[in-house]
Amino acid sequence: MLHEKAPAKINLTLDVLGKRPDGYHEVEMIMTTVDLADRLSIRPSEDGKIHILSSDRYVPDDRRNLVWQAADLLRKKAGIRSGVMFTLDKRIPVAAGLAGGSSDAAAALRGLNRLWNLGLSLDELAEIGAEIGSDIPFCVFGGTSIATGRGEKLRHLPAPPNCWVILAKPAIGVSTADAYGRLNLKTMEHPATAAMEAALKAGDYEAMCRSVGNVLEPATMGMHPEVAMLKDGMKRFGADAVLMSGSGPTVYGLVSSEARVARIVNGLRGFCPEVHAVRMLGEIPLA
Ligand code: ATP
Repeated sequence: MLHEKAPAKINLTLDVLGKRPDGYHEVEMIMTTVDLADRLSIRPSEDGKIHILSSDRYVPDDRRNLVWQAADLLRKKAGIRSGVMFTLDKRIPVAAGLAGGSSDAAAALRGLNRLWNLGLSLDELAEIGAEIGSDIPFCVFGGTSIATGRGEKLRHLPAPPNCWVILAKPAIGVSTADAYGRLNLKTMEHPATAAMEAALKAGDYEAMCRSVGNVLEPATMGMHPEVAMLKDGMKRFGADAVLMSGSGPTVYGLVSSEARVARIVNGLRGFCPEVHAVRMLGEIPLA
């Protein structure tokens, strides 16, 4: 039996540069992994099939699960017929903008690479993952990267300065397609991606806090005012920077002092059902 951790990611920045002829958006985003992770256990299965046993009964356990798709694709690429049994302990909120499913798929690729002794590099696993989802290459490596193209082209960056990350997910579902659909590519304000990269390279916490930005935030807030309310609450309770991650609805706050973390978490609990206080994972490679 093998074990892999599948950490969530947050977007320090998320920018959309345009729409491509193939229908994908051209993005530019700085992402980093945080210490809130699903757990994936992997063991061989005698019947030659792919099985998923999930702790979350609403997450599909069949070919709709990204873990299933990753295992199936890797088997085909490697010419392997072995079956596999995954046990998935979901701790990352689902459909939250935290790339939970993508990270599970990336963990499946890393784990099966070990289980089947394939000897593939992380670059090769990332390339395979990109065929399933644009966020999977980032999740294969974890740490901190700037992602371009449709999200699959990565350049690794230094870890963010150490701080706390408070994740708060309101009880609403966001359609990623609707959030992108509401973007006005001509008039929208772009985040300070270059300033964020410089802040990370300088290890400058204040500059990092000043440079967070996500073009999807106004789009999602237009559909769900709860996101704006949550942002206001987090700011009021004392977070140093507040932003929505991905297409939402999760909002995160960056906080430098542990005393303030408790105050913010307790303040948010009154009106947000799901709140986690975690650390950045930084640049630790996952394999
Ligand atoms: P992203 O930030 O990449 O947009 P997300 O965090 O918003 O992702 P996920 O939690 O990955 O969203 O799940 C989105 C949908 O994908 C779910 O509604 C679920 O049905 C499906 N899904 C497939 N595989 C998984 C998985 N392993 N874990 C969670 N959801 C999965």
